[in-house]
Amino acid sequence: MNHRKHKQTENIKNRKMYTPEGYLKDPPDAKCPHCGKSDKSCSHVNSVSRAWARDTCKKTNDKENSTDS
Ligand SMILES: [Zn+2]
Repeated sequence: MNHRKHKQTENIKNRKMYTPEGYLKDPPDAKCPHCGKSDKSCSHVNSVSRAWARDTCKKTNDKENSTDS
């Protein structure tokens, strides 16, 4: 008999390191240099999507700063 076993390890491999809130716990001193907030998607860049969030935050804050002066 030549039956194949389906491997169950594939699902485990794809498991992401995100918390239910969406992101890993950031370092306690992690905060965004642009908006100054912590525990935000832009507060600590450890993935491409968060790099995007940081970039978006930078643009948003640059805009606010320029209208401020
Ligand atoms: Zn920010």
